[in-house]
Amino acid sequence: MDLCSIDTIKKILSRHGFTFSKALGQNFLIDPDVCPAMAQSLNADEKTGVLEVGPGIGVLTKELCKVAGKVVSVELDKRLLPVLDETLAEFDNLEIVNGDVMKLDLKLLIEEKFQDCTSVKVCANLPYYITSPVIMTLLESKLPIDEIVVMVQREAGERLCAEVGSRDAGAVTVAVNYYAESEILFDVGRESFMPSPKVDSVVIKLKLRKEQKYIVNDEKRFFTTVKCAFAQRRKTALNSISNTMGISKKTLSDIFDELSLDKNIRSEKLTMEDLISISDRL
Ligand code: SAM
Repeated sequence: MDLCSIDTIKKILSRHGFTFSKALGQNFLIDPDVCPAMAQSLNADEKTGVLEVGPGIGVLTKELCKVAGKVVSVELDKRLLPVLDETLAEFDNLEIVNGDVMKLDLKLLIEEKFQDCTSVKVCANLPYYITSPVIMTLLESKLPIDEIVVMVQREAGERLCAEVGSRDAGAVTVAVNYYAESEILFDVGRESFMPSPKVDSVVIKLKLRKEQKYIVNDEKRFFTTVKCAFAQRRKTALNSISNTMGISKKTLSDIFDELSLDKNIRSEKLTMEDLISISDRL
């Protein structure tokens, strides 16, 4: 079954009385090159487990089942379950879990479902409305995964993979860099989807660090400092941190002096080391 053929998709969906939900970010891939390329980029083998978020009608799932030992796909929309039963009937290394990826206990799910796997990776064409929360949950929950390959809106991908200290950097960039090495793999135009969204996409890869690269005194305070530094992007880092974290300008000025940091510096110019030093002194 060619799951990239518009004709085939229309026939399956109408047979199941399915209509697209914009709210669930349902834009299905129709470019035949994209899913094989995403699956190949995982360098998976029969010992690899892959967790997919949002299989849709299974176009990416199918490619994942071909390269990995086991695939578990979490789909929120119950209406897609009978569709997936039909489109992926040939694969016995697949399990579909009906649920909301933001509400499931992913640690438990991974422990239970991938017992026989030597490595677990996440691969997905993420619904746009939960891109950052899903990625942040995957990173912050310290799950036993080693790689994340996901399709996201282009602007989100550029921010996630930006260099800390560059114009595109934001709080999420710092978080990604803290936990992983990031890379944009390739572009995917809006015409590659049905229905076509108003934005283009990119596929990104986040390789989770095995060894911690950055040591901070207090992780919670570090991430609060980072969020506050980027909360008021038009202001200087000093003012943004002071206004949103409720710390006096005098205290922060002294810290900036101690670190020989320009008091007019914007947060996007701060390096990881600068941000860590500021948070460690607060
Ligand atoms: N993987 C398919 C593809 O590439 O064509 C579909 C991708 S579509 C962009 C996003 C999918 O995520 C949809 O199937 C949607 O129903 C599902 N989804 C949306 N919110 C979800 C959530 N909170 N948890 C799990 N799946 C979700």
